Amino acid sequence: MEPIAIKHNDEIIDLQTAKELGVTGEEIGYDNSPESLDIIRHSCAHLMAQAIKELHPEALFYVGPTVKEGFYYDFKINESLGEADLKVIEKKMLSLAKKKDEITKYEITMDEAKAKFADDYLKLAVMERIPSNTVSIYKQGNFEDLCRGPHLPNTKMLRFFKLTKIAGAYLGGDSKNEMLTRIYGIAFADKESLKAHLEMIVQAEKRDHRKIGNEMKLFTFREEVGAGLPIWLPNGARLRSRLEQLLYKAHRKRGYEPVRGPEILKSSLWQTSGHYQNYGENMYFTEIDEQEYGVKPMNCVGHIKVYEDDLHSYRDLPLKYFEYGVVHRHEMAGALHGLFRVREFTQDDAHIFCRPDQIEEQIIEVVDFVDKIMSTFEFNYTMMVSTKPEKAVGNDEVWDISTQALKNAMDKNNLPYGIDEGGGAFYGPKIDIKITDAIGREWQCGTIQLDFNLPERFELEYNTEDNDKLAPVMIHRAILGSFERFIGILTEHYAGEFPMFIAPTQVAIVPIAEAHHEYAKELAAKLIDLGADFAIYDKNESLNKRIRTAEKARTPMLIILGDEEVANKTIAVRDRRTREQYNKSESEFLEYIQQKINEVNF
Ligand SMILES: [Zn+2]
Ligand SMILES: [Zn+2]
Repeated sequence: MEPIAIKHNDEIIDLQTAKELGVTGEEIGYDNSPESLDIIRHSCAHLMAQAIKELHPEALFYVGPTVKEGFYYDFKINESLGEADLKVIEKKMLSLAKKKDEITKYEITMDEAKAKFADDYLKLAVMERIPSNTVSIYKQGNFEDLCRGPHLPNTKMLRFFKLTKIAGAYLGGDSKNEMLTRIYGIAFADKESLKAHLEMIVQAEKRDHRKIGNEMKLFTFREEVGAGLPIWLPNGARLRSRLEQLLYKAHRKRGYEPVRGPEILKSSLWQTSGHYQNYGENMYFTEIDEQEYGVKPMNCVGHIKVYEDDLHSYRDLPLKYFEYGVVHRHEMAGALHGLFRVREFTQDDAHIFCRPDQIEEQIIEVVDFVDKIMSTFEFNYTMMVSTKPEKAVGNDEVWDISTQALKNAMDKNNLPYGIDEGGGAFYGPKIDIKITDAIGREWQCGTIQLDFNLPERFELEYNTEDNDKLAPVMIHRAILGSFERFIGILTEHYAGEFPMFIAPTQVAIVPIAEAHHEYAKELAAKLIDLGADFAIYDKNESLNKRIRTAEKARTPMLIILGDEEVANKTIAVRDRRTREQYNKSESEFLEYIQQKINEVNF
């Protein structure tokens, strides 16, 4: 396959630029690699602009970058466009691409560019943000655009694309500015990948946790309560409580102690921790008796106070504290999104205080913990080790030891990982956990973070073997990240068909008539004793209607009780997960339920 760009001194430059500079390098082919897709998609944004310009000659264009979901271009035209226009623009794009125009590049001075685009206030606004004295222009057919590239050599390579969404976007992202039109699109190097991606979008819409959460009555948001503040309904709270109970056991087994810090702490503490200076704009504050308090955005400080409550010797370490810590963070209103981005959430947060020589074994244990949880939920996951950034605290030796400890832990578990050079926090290296869901989407969940900074700021110490005093290392770790976000992801991952062990309700009981209510209640009580949950559908409605309502709740087991069942103590089961129907004796059935809900242990 012919190359579309080259990698020169670690920089991707297109063939036009390579020729201009007379340089060579490793070739980037036309494929679905991230480097290649970035060029294809950005070139597609230009093709879209060219098509819009042909259809609406008065159109003015702002910026057209590639983003996680593909590419977009912001522009201004005199009429308002809708979904139907996407097809029209797409058709125009295809016919323009068929002309197989070369994409050429030339440079002009900033003054020349300002003269060239003198009538185009959007391009002038773009140029305001460019610090250099020259700019490059890319040209295909009679369409020219100001751009730094890189671009494909030819429009004939733009074949497998789709415009996906039309929206409004404020100029420069500032709500004080005028609203432009934004069209999103996606492009690939082959037809199959495009098809698979579009199918994924359809699936994602069907699985939207806001939609399923509403159907299954898991959670809700209310305007009068406030944006980004989730309200857990009984079904969602049951699911969440199952997850909490499983995790509680899992933490205790691994030697963690439950602790709990207050929700608000004096601002002076947030100054000591550095949150006040570095994280203050994301925090909420209040005043009590003329003293300023900060609502906690993280649980670290509370756990530090637990550590400080006792003297510790080297033999006591590691100390592991965990808390389902409720935190508040100010997120921009526009960024809020169902359970994925909220202003109040609960982290499965823990802090491990250990000696430097214990870092590796502690990390190994946490990574194993992550593996248990993620594989139970059938997530594939990858890990990324982030190393020392330019601005960092702590000496090089400690950074080296701890970064190496993170890598060793991964190697000893035979876990593949990537390296994000310089991506660590200023106070220590970290591991990020990225999971892939049932339809191939990636989510960033938990992190494991080494910290040399907070123990020092709070002057934490332990007595060493030689009776010296040393600061412990602090490991911050959250595995799910937050219950809110993780349950949102689980909902989409399973499309609401939760496995038995976390489903809000394990058994839906449908008594046929009044005479069978007694037996329904009897069974319900037995289910609760087993640790399972139930819902009885005994409303004054037809049997069929009640069965349909029960099915909508996606409960794994549905049982129908009539005369025969009551007389013989048998259960007629509809197993929603295996799609089977069968009869079991009551004791067999209860045994089966018990086995199913206990089969998972993190
Ligand atoms: Zn461009
Ligand atoms: Zn922390």
